[in-house]
Amino acid sequence: MLLPVANDFVAAEDQAGALSHVETLNGDGVAGILNLLGEHYDDPAEAAADADAYVELIEAIDRNDLDCCVSVKPSQIGLDLGDDVFLSHLDRIVEAGTERDVFVWIDMEDHTTTDVTLDAFVHHARKTDGNVGVCVQANLKRTREDAERLAGVPGKVRFVKGAYDEPASVAYKKKERVNEAYRDLLAVAFETFDGGIAVGSHDPEVIEYVERLAAEHDASFEFQLLMGVREDAQRDLAADHDVYQYVPYGPKWLSYFYRRVRERKENALFALRAVLS
Ligand code: FAD
Repeated sequence: MLLPVANDFVAAEDQAGALSHVETLNGDGVAGILNLLGEHYDDPAEAAADADAYVELIEAIDRNDLDCCVSVKPSQIGLDLGDDVFLSHLDRIVEAGTERDVFVWIDMEDHTTTDVTLDAFVHHARKTDGNVGVCVQANLKRTREDAERLAGVPGKVRFVKGAYDEPASVAYKKKERVNEAYRDLLAVAFETFDGGIAVGSHDPEVIEYVERLAAEHDASFEFQLLMGVREDAQRDLAADHDVYQYVPYGPKWLSYFYRRVRERKENALFALRAVLS
């Protein structure tokens, strides 16, 4: 059972609860990005089961006529078991998304997975004429070059600061340096992309910066923020921009919830207060 205190960051344990959360979001003018929690499977059956669950989820999003897409982690659909396992499950998910007109995002995991993830994105983006998106991380030194390569590819690119603790040989380690790289990347995106720019950040300074870039350039863009983080800002932003909330759900919620609580003192205090009351 989902602990009441986790409700802020995780929509539900089951698909029905997640869809109902998105329906409420849509009522506030915010679109959904559903993510079934799970990663790093070393059992082929688990990877196949989650790929099946994404196909069913896509069908349900279409049936319920929701403004919603999905986002999947490569290691959740078998990347740790082999590139071929990941690619075959991704094929099924993207095919379902294309048939039902539901957009499919591919999350980005640590730097050892960047090449296979970007190659899979480019392949499906061309095949579906842009019904897929991929995430790129500003903390990786390679990303500027990747962004330049992705500029001509159909589909969307989600720009984030990067959530993985990467070695200094491949990544910027200082927060200020990552912030600087992130701004550079966003500037490159607005200068060179025709559209399909997604800004995955809660940072008010980044959001203001993007609004300035958008005023100077023509490219279409959207903001993406996590469920439970600056939700008032999400609704306010939705008055002027396309806003998506990334909505995790599923029975494997505990480690995700723990991560959210650990990353900010305010979240930890909130969780403690909820447990005590
Ligand atoms: P930070 O740099 O952490 O903080 C900057 C400022 O933002 C803070 O000073 C504060 O003002 C505000 N802020 C940040 N967090 C909070 C909070 N909890 N409550 C209130 N204010 C806050 N990373 C990946 O590596 N791969 C992915 O596929 C990926 N997908 C993502 C999808 C989405 C929709 C989002 C939002 C993030 C994703 N990330 C992903 C995570 C990302 O890389 C960052 O680790 C994460 O977003 C933190 O960076 P930030 O820019 O939001 O803010």
